[in-house]
Amino acid sequence: MALINVTEQIVEKRMQEILPTIDCCKCEKCYLDMMAIALNYLKPQYVNTEKGQLIKLAENTSIQKTVDIDIACVKAIDIVSRSPQH
Ligand SMILES: [Zn+2]
Repeated sequence: MALINVTEQIVEKRMQEILPTIDCCKCEKCYLDMMAIALNYLKPQYVNTEKGQLIKLAENTSIQKTVDIDIACVKAIDIVSRSPQH
C-alpha cells in the first residue's frame, strides 16, 4: 500500500494534454519543473487505497477543480518557458 497524491495524477494527465498545444521546451528537466510549480499552486489530496483513489478522482472532475488545475499548469509552463533551467 502506498500513498498517492491524486492531485499529482490529475496534474500529470492535464499537463500531457496541455503541453503539446504550447510552443515550449518539453525536456524532462523542464517538464518536472513545470510539474513541481503546478503542484505547489494546488492542494495535495493523498489517498492510501485504490478505492479511495477512484472516489477522489471522481470528486476532482468537478469543473472548478479542473479549471484550477488547468490554470496552475499554464502558469507553470509559462514560468518555466521564460527561464528554463536545463
Ligand atoms: Zn528544457
